[in-house]
Amino acid sequence: MIQIPRGTQDILPKDSYKWQFIEERLHEIAKNYNYKEIRTPTFESTELFVRGVGGSTDIVNKEMYTFQDKGDRSLTLKPEGTAPVVRSYIENKMQHDVVQPTKVYYMAPMFRYERKQKGRYRQFVQFGIEAIGVEDPLIDVEVISMLMHIYKSFGLKDLKLYINSIGDQNSRSAYNEALVNHFKPSIDEFCSDCQTRIDTNPMRILDCKKDRDHELIKTAPRMYDYLNDESKQYFEEVKANLDAIGIGYEVDYNLVRGLDYYTHTAFEVMSDAEGFGAITTLCGGGRYNGLLEMLDGPHETGIGFALSIERLLLALEAENIEIPEPAGIDLYICTLDDKSIERASHIVHTLRTKGISCDIDYKRRKLKAQMKDADRKGAAYTIVLGENELSTGNVELKHMGTGESKTVHLDELDTLLEEK
Ligand code: ATP
Ligand code: MG
Repeated sequence: MIQIPRGTQDILPKDSYKWQFIEERLHEIAKNYNYKEIRTPTFESTELFVRGVGGSTDIVNKEMYTFQDKGDRSLTLKPEGTAPVVRSYIENKMQHDVVQPTKVYYMAPMFRYERKQKGRYRQFVQFGIEAIGVEDPLIDVEVISMLMHIYKSFGLKDLKLYINSIGDQNSRSAYNEALVNHFKPSIDEFCSDCQTRIDTNPMRILDCKKDRDHELIKTAPRMYDYLNDESKQYFEEVKANLDAIGIGYEVDYNLVRGLDYYTHTAFEVMSDAEGFGAITTLCGGGRYNGLLEMLDGPHETGIGFALSIERLLLALEAENIEIPEPAGIDLYICTLDDKSIERASHIVHTLRTKGISCDIDYKRRKLKAQMKDADRKGAAYTIVLGENELSTGNVELKHMGTGESKTVHLDELDTLLEEK
């Protein structure tokens, strides 16, 4: 038997309403904040991610689904959404669009070759936004507030928002030096990745999952102390305006994005809920002032976040929040013989074209089984069609909730149901 690829999942018909509910809500909220959807291809040139995500990251080093196509191009299933959006921004010269800044969102499957565990898949769906073309603490606040709005709109309460500033490029070179001085003497106590990171990307050590409890991580120099006046001021304005709109946060001085083109604001949302499991990060985001130029684009800056729907669902589960089941069908037509099911199949055809949802029993079961089926399908109304009904055209329209019924003519079914 052929099985589903490791780390992927089927969203079964009994569960897909949850995804649809979440997706609809996300489209709605994006509209609220005036972000428009952008759809980029499922695969891109491998080089886009190598340059745009960074050769020293886990994503590029270990996690990409890369393949050669028949034309011998190296392509990669997208592991994240920012680089593709920025590629598209540059290619479509969006800096010249009449609408400025560019505020876009995406909702699409991402692919990473990762060890399967709870909340970690090899294909997962990310919802993310990017605001490109403006550098202002207030848009950083908008992005963060939208993120918190999303989680709160689903009723989640046990959330923690962590923020930090990693300053601008100038503040960072001094900081990187301090980190190297701090870790270098004891670097052999760290994992092999960190031993590479000390040379390629020392900030990334602070983000290491293996070494997170090492004493030197706790005593590491703080980025904050290395921020120049401008960067400090930017950070203070972000915090003051989060305060002003009542968004709670905690500053986490070890929260970093390890690449050169990330600047200023970095943030993460974690779930505090009991029973969430080992992975508690729901979302990550930050400002990337150098990314566009890194990809040969214009001198524009951006900020964004990405969350996965899989982890959002886990958080909902951990807080016992249920997504409302959708209403069932409007009408179920039970039939008593071959003639009536044939007629019923014509009736449902007409009703459906008029926007009424209805169904019949193609398995031609006994009436009792059909009633049960109607119930399972959540039918609001049922009628029973037999020889009598076919000859008179009159049927008993039964409301399944109250059990009440009334005699109606088949021809008035549509207007009646439309009214209801
Ligand atoms: P992690 O530390 O959990 O590996 P990350 O730093 O790789 O996360 P990002 O690249 O910032 O994650 O992606 C943003 C969000 O996408 C994460 O906060 C998480 O909600 C989600 N995410 C990342 N990887 C996966 C995955 N393999 N399966 C499901 N969701 C994921
Ligand atoms: Mg990861």
